[in-house]
Amino acid sequence: MTELGPNPLAAGERNIAVDEARAAIRGALAPIGGIETVALRDAVGRVLAADVVSPIDVPAHDNSAMDGYAFDGSALQAGTALSLRSVATVFAGAPFAGTLHEGECVRIMTGAVMPPGLDTVVPLELCRADGDRVQLEPGVIKPGENRRRRGEDLARGKAALHAGRVLRPADVGLAASLGFEQVAVRPRLRVALFSTGDEVVAPGRPLPPGGIYDSNRFALAAAVQRLGMTVVDLGLVRDDREALQATLDRALREADVVLTSGGVSAGDADYTRDVLARMGEVAFWKVAMRPGRPFAFGPLNGPGGRRSWLFGLPGNPVAALVTFYAFAREALLQLAGATPEPVPMLQARSAAAIRKRPGRTEFQRGIVGRAADGGWEVRLTGSQGAGVLRSMSEANALVVLGHDQGSVPQGGMVDVWLFDGLL
Ligand code: AMP
Ligand code: MG
Repeated sequence: MTELGPNPLAAGERNIAVDEARAAIRGALAPIGGIETVALRDAVGRVLAADVVSPIDVPAHDNSAMDGYAFDGSALQAGTALSLRSVATVFAGAPFAGTLHEGECVRIMTGAVMPPGLDTVVPLELCRADGDRVQLEPGVIKPGENRRRRGEDLARGKAALHAGRVLRPADVGLAASLGFEQVAVRPRLRVALFSTGDEVVAPGRPLPPGGIYDSNRFALAAAVQRLGMTVVDLGLVRDDREALQATLDRALREADVVLTSGGVSAGDADYTRDVLARMGEVAFWKVAMRPGRPFAFGPLNGPGGRRSWLFGLPGNPVAALVTFYAFAREALLQLAGATPEPVPMLQARSAAAIRKRPGRTEFQRGIVGRAADGGWEVRLTGSQGAGVLRSMSEANALVVLGHDQGSVPQGGMVDVWLFDGLL
């Protein structure tokens, strides 16, 4: 094993804390380039490549926030009732074309353009109307109320959405509200995936003695797809130098990222390290975490200056997913040009005591639910073995016990990542 300098990307193996690993990865990566234009209908989940700047004022004109009567607010006098004469009804989309005189008002619908000179709307329920006479008692309304001003939501020329935004439904709606039919987005990140191990068998085949079905490729592909990225499925790779080399060559040609599982722990054949060492600058870390200690990360260099980033996840199915969420998720978003938002973390009370020793980060599978008093409570899902995928599937959250944290008493507060936040 090589002695390591301070460069966390240097090849070799070292012990490293979760936060240190995260910071090293973040510091090494820069977004891939490129721009494509997509129709709004295809834009959800895509990464905005440029700011969306509003070409119009929103709202585009002063308009009524209520169904009521619009009038000139300067006619209001403290302590005095106001009597007005309604001369027209103004609907949304049909601006009033007439002229108004002192003491006159118009009946107005929500969203309708405020007639010139009128700045206040009294809601129907706050006044009394009798024929064309409208009576306002003193103090029911102040000048300027219930009018939406032109440009108050968004002024023309202002950025409504910023580059790096992963577009959500409301963002797509916002872009449409500004008149855009399409937006400029980053190309989808291409993520090559393969599994390693002579014992690993593709689903759909009979399971030979000693075999185990390949779950990682499917779970990881699903996680990558949820991030809006393209999966390049390179299948299963035998524990063999040539097979690994050929697969990595292909991954380098076809993808921005290579996500592997298995074959990175200390006991694995040295050729994995040989092959990776020749192809780039991959570091093998022993991360102080459970599950998921072995982890490899670094650049692979291909012909013509091509570069892909390798994330070598542990083979154990739960460890593979946990390390994906702990390290790869944010890194892939960063490569995709997104401004990564941290996974939302919730505080919940632990239903039972949890044993934990300081000096490593632990991710335990849990089920979060409402306690009798209405607060959030989490209980662990039985066996926390790194190979027990069933309990990962049963869980709806990961309890994250920090590096320096010790055991948690029953009722103690713990940090949790809700799976539904892990999009
Ligand atoms: P490794 O990291 O290659 O030593 O694998 C650790 C454990 O995970 C072993 O029990 C493997 O059989 C298992 N494993 C490795 N790859 C996969 C996979 N793709 N799907 C399910 N289990 C796997
Ligand atoms: Mg293996």
